[in-house]
Amino acid sequence: MNRSLTCVLLPILAAAVGGCAPMDVYRSHLLPTGNQAEPGVFVTWLGTAGVLVSDGTTGILIDPYVSRSGLCRVIFGMKLHPDRDLIRQWVARTGSVPIRAVVVSHSHFDHALDAPFFARETGAPLVGSRSTRNIGLGAGLPETQLMTVQPGRTMALGAFTLTFLESAHGPALFGRVPYPGTISEPLIPPRPAGDYRLGTTFSILITHPCGTILHHGSAGFVTGMYAGVRSDVVLLGITGRGDTGEYLAQVPLQVKARTLIPIHFDDFFHPLGEGLSFLYTSRFAEFCATAGESGLAVRTLPVGEQVRVLPVE
Ligand SMILES: [Zn+2]
Repeated sequence: MNRSLTCVLLPILAAAVGGCAPMDVYRSHLLPTGNQAEPGVFVTWLGTAGVLVSDGTTGILIDPYVSRSGLCRVIFGMKLHPDRDLIRQWVARTGSVPIRAVVVSHSHFDHALDAPFFARETGAPLVGSRSTRNIGLGAGLPETQLMTVQPGRTMALGAFTLTFLESAHGPALFGRVPYPGTISEPLIPPRPAGDYRLGTTFSILITHPCGTILHHGSAGFVTGMYAGVRSDVVLLGITGRGDTGEYLAQVPLQVKARTLIPIHFDDFFHPLGEGLSFLYTSRFAEFCATAGESGLAVRTLPVGEQVRVLPVE
């Protein structure tokens, strides 16, 4: 690693993330954690776009990424290592409900690097694009534990039904989509960030007798993709979005969300165990203010704690 460059970059990054204002906004919107005895659908946030969705009987992991490689490793093209011990800790922390699927919304490292190892720890199938399949194969998962999905596919898991909708990645890197393309052969870790190519970008509509949740993990969209779609709750990736008003109009306002939960705004180059901090590029406070002005009910998730999101009260 070029340490002198690191010494220059890290203070700049430290100045660019964190700060009181976004943390105050985040805390003021937190969902309560004290209603777990009541029936419903619960979400546990793992940081980034990673969530566990559970109704107490069936668990579904989406985009679990906890290894959180440092910024220098990512930008200098160093190999990224899944943190197997931390993954085991998170599997234990998220409870005893059987995990029926580990779903990947697209194949960038901050969505897909840890996913096959969560699948290995839980025994659940790894579900996603052909690129995600190659990440699973490279990590040593057997063919029988891999499920490749196409846009439009539905999947029943317990009382849940998942529908995979084709979406688009946000312009997260200086107005461009980072690491475009597909992964065409098994990706054996450890590999640098740039090898985790995008693949198909999915949004996942999760229906349940208690209501509907939309996981929209990357801050892009296909115009009209939600025509006729309704969702009570939207888990919305916000880093790398373009205009906030247009994004809100195309996703949470379009599906008539009753609860809007921003995700993927945290500084995922920083260990979550050292506390939550904010990516400057997430413009978190601006997002919450604009969403509030649009009439949307913004709520935030605590880290690693189960909160009830359905039914919406
Ligand atoms: Zn991405």
